[in-house]
Amino acid sequence: MRLDKFICKSTALNRAEARECINAGKICVNDALVTDISFQVHESNHITLDGQKLIARPSRYIMLHKPMHTLSSNVDGDYPSLFNCIELERVEDLHIVGRLDADTTGLVLLTDDGRWSFDIIRPDKLCEKTYRVTLRDPITADIAADVIASFASGLQLQNEKTLTQPAKLELVTSTEMLLTITEGKYHQVKRMFAAIGNRVNGLHREQIGGLKLDVEVGMWRHLTTDEVSMLA
Ligand code: URA
Repeated sequence: MRLDKFICKSTALNRAEARECINAGKICVNDALVTDISFQVHESNHITLDGQKLIARPSRYIMLHKPMHTLSSNVDGDYPSLFNCIELERVEDLHIVGRLDADTTGLVLLTDDGRWSFDIIRPDKLCEKTYRVTLRDPITADIAADVIASFASGLQLQNEKTLTQPAKLELVTSTEMLLTITEGKYHQVKRMFAAIGNRVNGLHREQIGGLKLDVEVGMWRHLTTDEVSMLA
C-alpha cells in the first residue's frame, strides 16, 4: 500500500492532508524520514506521525443488494449513487468490485482493499457471476438446446476480437434464465443476448463466486472472514 493511503487508513486525515503531512517531513518509516508519497508500505514497517506509531484500520468487505435505478459510482448522476444505501464512516474510502448498470439489481461487493478486489475481477481468475435474466423474446423448446450450446461455446459480441468465455445458461422458464459467466465486459450480459437477436428486459445478479446475495433490497452487511477468503 502507498504511504499516503496508509496514513488515511490509520488516521482521520484525507488523502490531501496525508500528502501534506508527508511533504512536511512528519512521517518516519522504521525511524527514517520519508517524504515520498508513493513509498510502498509493508506490513512489518514501523510508521510514525510526529513520533506516534500509526496502525491501519482493518479493511472492510461488504455485500449490498443494489436497488433498481442506482448508479455504480461514488457520486449521484441521473440516478442516486448506490453509496446512499450505506451509512458508514468514511464510506468514500470504499470502491465497487464489478459495477452493475443502473437498471440492474442485485449483489454488489464493496471494499477498501484494492488487492482483494483486483483478485476477484482480474480476467484470469475466471470468477463466476450468476445473473437472473428476463428476456423480451421467449427461448422456445425447439431452439433451447442450440442457444445453450452457443453460450457454452462462446458468442461473438460486437466490437470484440475474441469469443466470450464459456457460459452456463439454464432456462427457468422460456423468458427467465440463470446465466453464469466468468467475465465482466461492459454490458456483457445484455450484449450476449443481443448477439442472439434477443433483448434483456430485467437483470439481477444473484451470486459472485460462492457468495449468494442474502440481504433485502437496499440493505447491506459485512462479509465474514471466511467469505472474504473464499472469494479472492
Ligand atoms: N451485464 C450487463 O449487461 N449489465 C450488468 O449490469 C451486468 C452484467
